[in-house]
This record gives sequence, structure tokens and C-alpha cells, in this order.
Amino acid sequence: MSYPIATAPIGLYVHVPFCLQKCDYCSFYSRSGRLQEIPAFISALQQEIDGAMRRYGPLPVDTLYLGGGTPSLLDTASLALLLKGLRRSFALAETSEITLEVNPYTVDGDKAAAWLDMGINRVSVGVQALREEDLVFLGRLHSADQALASLDCLQQSGFTRLNADLLFGIPGQSVHHFREGLERLIQTGADHVSVYGLSIEENTPLSDRHRMGLFHKINDEVYEALFLTAHAFLEGAGFSHYEISNFAKPGGESRHNLNCWTGHDFLGFGPAAHSKIGTRRFANPSDLSAYLKNPFDRSFDTPLTEEQVRLERLMLGLRCREGVDRADVRRPDHLEILYKRHLVAFSGERLRLTPSGMLLMDEIVLYLEGEKCSTSK
Ligand code: SF4
Repeated sequence: MSYPIATAPIGLYVHVPFCLQKCDYCSFYSRSGRLQEIPAFISALQQEIDGAMRRYGPLPVDTLYLGGGTPSLLDTASLALLLKGLRRSFALAETSEITLEVNPYTVDGDKAAAWLDMGINRVSVGVQALREEDLVFLGRLHSADQALASLDCLQQSGFTRLNADLLFGIPGQSVHHFREGLERLIQTGADHVSVYGLSIEENTPLSDRHRMGLFHKINDEVYEALFLTAHAFLEGAGFSHYEISNFAKPGGESRHNLNCWTGHDFLGFGPAAHSKIGTRRFANPSDLSAYLKNPFDRSFDTPLTEEQVRLERLMLGLRCREGVDRADVRRPDHLEILYKRHLVAFSGERLRLTPSGMLLMDEIVLYLEGEKCSTSK
């Protein structure tokens, strides 16, 4: 197989598949009870990283995202070893954005100082909710106060770029509760907030509880009201809604994610990590044991057709504030009705989704592609 040349600089993603305990709603690939395998994991990662260097050369890199799982469970020596290996294999710019995902219960002042020392300059904290009953419902291992204290500790330690992840659509959540949480959150030093709708994924404890009738999903009206509350509240507090799920103070946007959404190339390492180089997409199997035996295996490795690339660009573009060119949609004659229903807006020749449109993105894309969907009724 011949390998396409990457468009430099690229982004790097490392998937760290360890968690202390699985949260009830989580469908990301991660394993609990296997922390003793961290040294073997770091060594497998190093093999995979060295292999990429041999294949692509020491590519220039401007963003690195350490996600998971819970990468902040890695002891600082293992994390430092990983970063050293990445710097040996890739040309990480001095100005690179290096993000670490953290779980609130893993944060303390010593660790935060060590993370800063090794060049990590952005931290994403899994706050998820700021009401105790919501955290219990989700099966999180920390309290609301602990989440806020972790943000405070990171800020006191010198981090200026802080994201907080928040979930909406938790059964029992009201607009009032959600707004209270947002108010508490913006009083921390966070310059970025990611707001995700809770979805009930198959093969999770949450889907089992739902099947048994132990709770009801939140209704569509409340779900929409919660999302629109996040939009109005955060925009009012100086955050820009620059992507469907993401809000940032000026300059606080995640460069790594923005690059992915705007078509830059990226390489992923670790179980379940995905990569994009040119038109080629490939991913590692979601299996830690298999990864430790062979970190070069792929669950798929395939080039996209021109049409698939166009569709991917349309979907990613519509996620973002800048939107897409009107000319990029297959059925521009379908735009008028969406505009009349306040689901899309225009800036010159650019087309973007309104906040209400964001909630219907999949249906809108289908409609603009000429498929039938409920938004046109
Ligand atoms: S900590 Fe994050 S990755 Fe781990 S189980 Fe919970 S939501 Fe999933």
C-alpha cells in the first residue's frame, strides 16, 4: 500500500483507555481495573508512534490532544515518557496546543504543576453536571464541589486555558437547574465550555436501566430548551458558540478540534484512535489486550471517494460557526423553507445553522442532500 502525504502541520491524538470505574452512560472505549497495564500500554504506544515516524517522517505538529478514557490517571512519569516519545518522533512546535483531558478526582496541585512543566497548556475537565443527583444518576465518581475545586486548583497552578465538559438532557434536569450550573461554571476560570446532549447508548448500564423502565428520557421540548439556554446564557457571558457543542471566550477555541472540523490531517494513537491523512481514514481496534500485542493492527483503513469527502466537509462545516458555501449543498432550492423556519441563516454566500437548526443537523443535512425528512413538512 502507498501512503498519502500528510498536509502539515498535523494534529496528534492519543487515546488513553483507562478509567477507575465506567460511568453509567459512557460508550467511549475505556477499561476499568487495568491500571497495572499502564507501563505495557506506554511501551506499545511508543512502538506505534515510532512506526508512524518511519512511515511519514518527523511531521510538523501544532496540536496534541491526550484524551480517553482518563489520561489524567497516568502517573506523571508515564505521561512525561509519552510526551518525550512524541517529541522525538514529531516536530512539535513551541507554540503547540497540548490538551489533557482530566477527571476532577485526579487533580491536585503537584500533578497540575508537573503537567505544566511537561508543556501541557490546556486542560479539559469532565465536570458533566453541577447537581449531586445528576452526578449520581450518571455514575460519576466525583461531587460538584470537587469538580469546581479541580478547576480552581488548575487555575491557581497557572493554567489559563481551561475547558469544562457539561451534559444536558439528564432526566429530571430543569432549565432552572441547568442555568444555575452554568452560572457556577462561568465563575471559575474556564475559557471554554463544551455542552453535550446526554444520549442513551446501547450496551451501557444506563440503557439497561432505561429498558427496565427505571427512568424516562427527558422530553424533546425540555431538551431543546436546555440547549437554547446554554446558547443564550453562554453567549451573554462572552462565550462564542463556535461549534454545535462548543463555546469559547475570544481566543479560547480548541485549535485541535477546529483543525479536525476544517479538514486538517491528524494521526491517532492507542486503542480506538482514528486518523485522517488526505482522503484516507483509518482506526485502531477498540481492544486494549489486542493493542498491547500488536499496536499496528487496524479495524479499518480505507480511502474516501470524492463524494464521501464532499459530504464529510458539508457535515463538519455545518457544525461550525463559519458554516459552508451555499454552493456546497446539493439542493439549494431547499434552503428557503429552512430559512423561513429559522433553522438556517446566511452571511453573504455562507450558510450556517441557527441554534434551533443545530439540534436538527442530521435531518437538515439529509434534506439539503435531497432526502425526505421531517424538517420539510
Ligand atoms: S471517565 Fe470519561 S471515559 Fe471514563 S467512563 Fe466516565 S465518561 Fe467514560
